[in-house]
Amino acid sequence: MQKYKIVEIFDSIQGEGPYLGERQIFIRLGECNLSCVYCDTDFKRYVLMTAKEIFDQVNEKTIVFTGGEPLLQSGLIKEIRKLEHFVLKKNRIMLETNATLSSQLAEVIDYVDVFSCDYKLRKYANIDQKEHQQFFAKLEAKNKNFYVKIITDDDISLEEFKEEIKYLQVNKNTKIILQPIFKESLQYSAQFIKYHQILLNKGFEKVFFIPQVHKFLGVN
Ligand code: SF4
Repeated sequence: MQKYKIVEIFDSIQGEGPYLGERQIFIRLGECNLSCVYCDTDFKRYVLMTAKEIFDQVNEKTIVFTGGEPLLQSGLIKEIRKLEHFVLKKNRIMLETNATLSSQLAEVIDYVDVFSCDYKLRKYANIDQKEHQQFFAKLEAKNKNFYVKIITDDDISLEEFKEEIKYLQVNKNTKIILQPIFKESLQYSAQFIKYHQILLNKGFEKVFFIPQVHKFLGVN
């Protein structure tokens, strides 16, 4: 039986993005294909579990696959979706992804209800942003429910920021979440409001500035 690399399973409130405050169960998978400078996840420490062992711990309606990069183990999403009890519990699947692995996306696109997709900035990640473009195009072609998260600090000039979001080409109605890199001080500079304005000027109609609330609360 296939076993998957699992860092942790925990239930908590969603601390990021448009589902902020919703009670969810998080399944954090090991390994990642990127190395972002702000990464706060130890995705190299994991245990091996089967899909059934993992699903037995699910006690909330919404299951969030997070990482690491969950699409590196896309088989798990498919397996869980097909478990008999999944249907009985009327679960919903949300996938938090770095939005770079288009071929793996194709394998699970029909099994995920909501996609939380990063749009990485080159300043903080070893990324070819055209990979995001391909990823978002696949989601739009299938009319999937997704939103985009841009994680940034305030140390990018406005010109650099405009250049960084050049490949962010999604439907103007797509929710765009501007998420500051977490700081203990709770002080966020006005630079973020300028980034927010740049996104509005690009034509996006639903742009939100939302810090990581779970970190302020000191919960997982
Ligand atoms: S994509 Fe996420 S898990 Fe992977 S290195 Fe970047 S922040 Fe860490």
